[in-house]
Amino acid sequence: MLEIVSFTLGPAQTNAYLVADSETKEAVVIDPSWDGQLILEAAQKRGWRIGHLWYTHAHFDHIGGAGAIADALNPLPLVALHPNDHVLWRAGGGGSLFGFDIDPGPEPTIDFVHGMKLRLGSMEFEVRFTPGHTTGHCILYVASAHVCFCGDLIFAGSVGRTDLPGGNWDALVKSIKEQIYTLPDNTRLLSGHGLETTVHEEKLNNPFVSS
Ligand SMILES: [Zn+2]
Ligand SMILES: [Zn+2]
Repeated sequence: MLEIVSFTLGPAQTNAYLVADSETKEAVVIDPSWDGQLILEAAQKRGWRIGHLWYTHAHFDHIGGAGAIADALNPLPLVALHPNDHVLWRAGGGGSLFGFDIDPGPEPTIDFVHGMKLRLGSMEFEVRFTPGHTTGHCILYVASAHVCFCGDLIFAGSVGRTDLPGGNWDALVKSIKEQIYTLPDNTRLLSGHGLETTVHEEKLNNPFVSS
């Protein structure tokens, strides 16, 4: 069974998701936003092994906890990110713009590709390429669990900003319409900031992108 532990951490109140197959105890962290030791403790308490870190995109507030998690793990977790965001990752996630200097942790070695399937125990995650907030932004969809980890693409009643380097409004709208609004209505959307929502709710009420 897919188990999800959510955290809201750091200077931008960014959601991190510790996700595990409760049978095999294999775990990943989707966007280890900040305070990695807290995420690590939550995994250890449950007997889960964090093998991977998956990044929706490389902004500093989504990866700021990676260094602390990796420092405590042997072997090191494997990091996955879309190659279009590697430049941003190397630039510390753009943190210097906001006065933050993060420990970025291990170098990404798995390149996200649209349509790629990732396994966690018996669960399958589908990578969907969703540029707009950054040029390499991706979301992770688990059809069997009716859940989508959507980073800073869409939020409850809002959407990701496009005024930072690499942002593109038209691309963001296209990504939402083609990759979010095409998912089943009952799909839970777990975003990078704010509360959980659903595809149905956003198609009806999102004031920025109508369906
Ligand atoms: Zn972001
Ligand atoms: Zn963010």
